[in-house]
Parts: sequence; C-alpha cells; structure tokens
Amino acid sequence: MTDGPPVKIAIIGSGPAGFYTASALLDSCKTCLIDIVERLPTPYGLIRGGVAPDHQTTKRVAKKFEKTALEAGINYYGNVEVNKDVSLDEMRSLYDAVMLAVGAPADRVLGIPGADKQGVLGAAAFVGWYNGHPDFRELDPDLNVEAVCVVGNGNVALDCARVLSRSPRGMAYTDLPDHVRDAITEAPLTDIYMLGRRGPVNAAFTNVELRELGELTLAEPVVKAEQLPDDPEAALASYEKRERRVRGRNLETLADYAARPPAGKPKRLHLEFFASPVEVLGGERVEGLRCERTEVVDGRATGTGETFDIPCGMVIAAIGYRAEPIAGAPYDEKRGIIPNDDGRVEPGLYAVGWIKRGPTGVISSNRPDGEIVAEQIGADTGGVGDAAKAGRQGLEALLRERGQRWVTFEDWRRLAAMEVAAAGEHAPRRKFTTVEDMLAALDQDAKGDSMNKPKPPRAEDGAYAGDKTPQETWEALADASGAVLVDVRTDAEFAYVGVPDLAGLGKETKFAPWVLFPGGDANPNFMEQLKAAQPDPEKPVLFLCRSGVRSRFAAAAATLAGYTNCYNILEGFEGDKDPDGHRGTVGGWKVAGLPWTQG
Ligand code: NAP
Repeated sequence: MTDGPPVKIAIIGSGPAGFYTASALLDSCKTCLIDIVERLPTPYGLIRGGVAPDHQTTKRVAKKFEKTALEAGINYYGNVEVNKDVSLDEMRSLYDAVMLAVGAPADRVLGIPGADKQGVLGAAAFVGWYNGHPDFRELDPDLNVEAVCVVGNGNVALDCARVLSRSPRGMAYTDLPDHVRDAITEAPLTDIYMLGRRGPVNAAFTNVELRELGELTLAEPVVKAEQLPDDPEAALASYEKRERRVRGRNLETLADYAARPPAGKPKRLHLEFFASPVEVLGGERVEGLRCERTEVVDGRATGTGETFDIPCGMVIAAIGYRAEPIAGAPYDEKRGIIPNDDGRVEPGLYAVGWIKRGPTGVISSNRPDGEIVAEQIGADTGGVGDAAKAGRQGLEALLRERGQRWVTFEDWRRLAAMEVAAAGEHAPRRKFTTVEDMLAALDQDAKGDSMNKPKPPRAEDGAYAGDKTPQETWEALADASGAVLVDVRTDAEFAYVGVPDLAGLGKETKFAPWVLFPGGDANPNFMEQLKAAQPDPEKPVLFLCRSGVRSRFAAAAATLAGYTNCYNILEGFEGDKDPDGHRGTVGGWKVAGLPWTQG
C-alpha cells in the first residue's frame, strides 16, 4: 500500500456479506479505516434474524465476525439507518468507498387473488417474527389455526414448516423468543402443508434440512409415493453430476418418508408437490388455499387445469426475497437487486451479498463477494484515501447534530452478555426483541442496574411473585385455604415436564382437588368442571400452565364468570423464567381482574 491518507470505507449492513467484506478488506489493506453501519443496535443480519433459531450451529459463525469487529481499524455504528438517519449521498461524501451489504429483506409477492387476506404472510415477516426481529415484534400472527400452508420448496419454506412443528423441548434449546414459543405451543396446529409448484426433483431445499423433518418429536413428514419419480436416475439425467447427487439424496429421503407407516404424532408435515397456488380462499381471513395441479414441462411448472383446495387458516409465502431500493443508488426492479458489475455499482459505490446477486446461496457464499470488492476498492483508490473525506469523525458529527444515538460494538457485547445471562437453562440467549428494550437495557446497565437483577412485579397483576423464590411462592399459595389447582397444560407438556414430579409437588402443597383441564378455557367443559371443583367463587383458584399464557386466558375466563380469587402459576423447568423475568421452577401472581394485559 502507498503512503497517504487512509482509505475510509463504510459498509452498510452487518450481516454475513458485510462482515466477510470487512474481513477481506482488513487482509488486503492494513491501513484502511472501516466503519460498519447497521440500522439495528444488534449486528449479524440474517445470522441473528434469518437463520432459524433451532440452527444454532450455523449461527456460530458470528464468533468469527466478532473477532473481525474487534480488530483495530474497524468501528461499528449500530442503530443508524442509511436512508433515514443519514442519506447514501451523505455517506458517499464522507467515505472513499461505500459498500451496500443490506441484503434482500422484502418478500417476493404471491400475486394471486386473495393474497391480501388476513392470515397471509410473507416468509420475511414470519421468519423475522420467530427470530425476535424488532421489525416484526408486533406481527402477532394468529396461530389459532389447525392447518397452515407454506408455499415454496426452498430452505426458508422448510425452516418455517419445521419451526412450527417443534416440540416445547426442542424449542427450549433455541433462542426462539418466549412469545413465539408460547404461540407455537398453544396453537391447535395439526397439519402443515409445504407446497412445491414443481416436482420433488426440482425442489430447492437441501438434504440435511430435509432429513431434519424426519427427526421431529411431535411431527412426522407425509409424502405421497405416487408423486415421486418411478425412475429417479432418468428424472435426474438432465442435471450435472454434483446436482444429480444432491437431488438424488433428496429423492432417497422422500422415498423413505413415503414408505414410513403413520406414527400417530400430533402434527403432520405434508410435502405436496406439483401444486401451484392459484387463489387464497375465505372472507376477510384465510380459510383455504386453492391449488392447481401441475406437471413439469421443460423444467417449468405447467398447469393441468385440475384444482384442489386445502383448508387452512394461514398461508406463508416462502417464495424468495427481494432487495429494496435505496435512494441514491440504481435499482433493477425486475431482478430486485442493485445493478452492478461484479460488485462495482459505480466508482466509490459497491454491492455485496444478496443485494448484489439476489437471494441465493449459503452464508459462506458471501465470502467471495467480499474478496472481489476488496480488490476493486484497492484498484479504484490505489490504496490512498481522499484527505477531504471526513470518514467516521464526519459521520459522528452528523449523528450528534441530528441527535441520533448510535450503539458501539462494546455496547452490543454488553447487550449480548445480558441476553446470555437471561437465557433459560438450555437456551443460548434470551433475545431483546425491541430497539427500545435494547437501548433501555444499555442505559440501566450504564447505571450499574443490570437486566439480570430481579424485576419488580407488575402492578396490574398484583404483587404475588415479586422477588419470592419458587418455594416461597408455593408456600404462600398453599396457605390460601380451600384452594383448587387447575392444570391447563397440554398432553405434550405433561410428557415433557414429567407428571410424577408435579403430582408429588401437588401433594406436598396440599392442593385438593387437583383438576386437569387440558386446553384450559378452550375445553368445552371448562366452566362446568370448575364450578364442580370450586363451588365457592370467592375461594382461590390457582391456574397452572407451562408458559403462563393459556393459564391467563383460563384465569380471565374464570374471573369473568365471577371468580374473584384467581392466581396464575407458571411452572417452568429449571432456569426458566416467567414473562416478567423471574427465574425459577414456579412463579405465580394474582390476576387482578379485568381488563388485564398480557405481558
Ligand atoms: P429459494 O431457494 O429460491 O426457494 C424459493 C422457492 O419458492 C422455490 O421452490 C420456488 O419454486 C418457489 N417459488 C417461487 N415463486 C413461486 C410461486 N409464485 N409459486 C410457488 N412457488 C414459488 O429461496 P429461499 O427458500 O427463500 O432461500 C433463499 C436462499 O437462502 C437459498 O439459497 C437457500 O438455500 C438459503 N437458505 C439456506 C438455509 C440453510 O442452509 N439451512 C436456510 C434458509 C435459507 P421454483 O423452483 O419452481 O421456482
């Protein structure tokens, strides 16, 4: 590298493409100053917000990215959105080179009649929701449905279908947010349909991911043997060797699924091929999906005119992603990318990752993008920066002037430590899911008031659990004379937690009678049985639930029916926390009456 002012580079976006580029730049240019600008306080893009929460091994690459971020010469500016807090033109005026690494966050549109009905979601939204992405914290998809159709045959479709099928135990080992875990656990979902518009040979998913479907505790894959090719070799003949091998494995796995006798698991995951969605059925809400049977002609799905309907309450379109336009950069509307010449958009502006080449490939596919563009920047700048470019000092001055708070990498590491400390026993972390919570936690931490300290009880729920230990909570409740314990957990949760332990606990704490209401207030005999078990509406009724949400509904229903002394009891496994963050095996709080709010 030549002597002179350092080359100042801004990488916009801190996902894999951004970090691989930062790493390539560090290798090729020791004196470069690199600033990673990210709109969320949290880094790592799709690693945190896209890779499924039950694929923690894939997320480990973040450790590598962390090492890169800690290298001298790299600064991180989280919570700064280019296009909003600062414009692309301003960034270009401050830096010698600006790299767009913002991915493809929008969904490809399912352009069929009825696609605007409630209950039709794009995968970007659904994946963001189950990954605790702040943009989708309020998505609140109505999972009170028995069947879901997932359109698409890629790995994202598989992710959506698999996450919906996970058992409570499976979810305990993930960083799936509590509200998502509760929604999935409570859902009466029995059938998930994954629809490929072409055949099994053409599916875009990969074999490791397909095989995972066969290992789920609460769900079993269902494949129609007649949809598989009679002669796999002939069906694969047009593919080159590697593709033939990869797709051949998929066919073997699908044949294995087709041959399996029904296992009677509570959820079925149907892999339906030659099915192209043509209309979403229903009124305001989704009630079904009409599909046209297809055949594959010259590699393309061709309609046969025959249609069939799949009743379902939700449709997730996992049919690929698109980049979004950025003011100040060109945009190829048709391809949904920024037009570029192998990464170079125009002198001083570059693109890497999905915004460069579209939403394809795995995480490491981003590495060569970074290497190519690092070479281009070297060639375009000659390794010497423009002394007139203010770089990070200019960016910070602009942000200060606008009152825009930024999050440093050290701040992020503090947030990450809080997430790890707040996690359940087996979970890797318990994510912050709103930007406000992240910033507030940083403020509290700065005052020495860490998130991990017990939180005060919520006023609207009455002061029951507070800072009591689980044992104290139980003892206090056991003193409530004449209490009835109502157990609203599902069968799956019984199997998971182990009934004998709880039965023992019930005896110890003198609750009599112990009433089981699987399904809680959704059980048609709920109120009748409650009245029989606890005829005096002024005596205490204690509602026990695995996660707390269903017991709140049941307690609310009882409160409405005149029961004035209802308590919510959370029964979690060791290290679990109630919705207020109280750690322990059992927590409880009094339902203060209606209206009540869900935490
Ligand atoms: P994808 O692999 O491109 O799959 C998109 C699917 O949607 C294809 O099956 C496609 O069918 C179908 N499709 C497109 N338009 C459709 C329409 N109008 N109607 C019905 N079906 C339609 O995309 P993706 O699943 O979003 O994944 C994006 C990238 O991330 C991929 O490279 C994927 O491998 C990667 N990824 C990897 C993992 C992992 O490794 N575990 C996890 C998630 C994502 P056709 O083939 O007929 O067009």
